[in-house]
Amino acid sequence: MTQEARFVTVDHAWSGAWSRRSVVRLTDEIELLGPPHTAHDGIPHLPGTLLSPFTDSHVHLGLIDPLLLGPGGIARVDDLGWDPDTASLWPEHGRLDPRWPEVRVAGGLLCPPGGYPSRSAWAPDTASVVVANPAAARRAVERMHDLGAALVKITLNSDVGPVFDDTTLRAIVDAAAEHVMTTTAHVQGVGQARRALAAGVDRFAHTPFSELLDDELIERLAARTSWISTLDIHGHGRGGAVHDVAVANLARFRTAGGHVLYGTDLGNGDLPVGVNERELRDLQRAGLGLDELLHALVAGVPLGGVGEGGRGTAHATWIPTPPPDDPAEAPAWLATAVVTTPDTLLEKTT
Ligand SMILES: [Zn+2]
Repeated sequence: MTQEARFVTVDHAWSGAWSRRSVVRLTDEIELLGPPHTAHDGIPHLPGTLLSPFTDSHVHLGLIDPLLLGPGGIARVDDLGWDPDTASLWPEHGRLDPRWPEVRVAGGLLCPPGGYPSRSAWAPDTASVVVANPAAARRAVERMHDLGAALVKITLNSDVGPVFDDTTLRAIVDAAAEHVMTTTAHVQGVGQARRALAAGVDRFAHTPFSELLDDELIERLAARTSWISTLDIHGHGRGGAVHDVAVANLARFRTAGGHVLYGTDLGNGDLPVGVNERELRDLQRAGLGLDELLHALVAGVPLGGVGEGGRGTAHATWIPTPPPDDPAEAPAWLATAVVTTPDTLLEKTT
């Protein structure tokens, strides 16, 4: 349905950079236009901050209630592993139901025979897609692609079982590239980060936490991979040492110019559904300031409008207060975010 455009102004906006009072065009999308001029006198004003939609780049929708994500400030998710046939329904569900987030899925978790998570309690048996050799690797990636997956989840966890040999690992990465799919690996165990890099994996599903990586390896990882943070999964009674290793690795990865994505492994343990203030505090400990936190949260998705070719987004982030002067308050401020659509933003003006 075509919507006639409505306009509002907001006090602050962020779409890759900050702007002060801005005009927002609302159709079936939200589009940031720029500073108001006299023609905009009298249009409704919202005191608060409009931002690009926030993404959690590592969730398991099968373990949470997706309807809680929007009120919690998360507009988009990457699901990193579940029963492939069930997960294949989620992207369309996200398109049709405005209460759902936008969803990309990996489908199953590609693992070697007996490898993680085939014996783990959290995942249904059908979530583990066993890949025994390079030919099976190509078939498994094709199957996920045909089910509508945008991502390929690989497990490389030598702490709890066997891991892929280099040839099979490489075959998965090559097959994913042929289908323009992003490879995301669960990398755990000493030496596995180096192997993932050598194989050409795009993303790490977790900040490496098994060992303090050396500077030369960090430099190469920063040039070639993105890391999904998931620092808070180590924060609850699992001992501080692993957490400290992860924060130290991420701090050096960031300093080396590495691309950091906000992600929580939502569904894994007792984590808040929505923007996780503790995850953001941990990212601050690794050195990220407010703008870097925002870049990690939006995962490259702009709000549209200024400098973005004029295209808007179906969702945006709304925070009813101005950005804090004190950087230490940024995590708590960001955790008050809610997802807004054009309709729910208009409702706030009445
Ligand atoms: Zn996970």
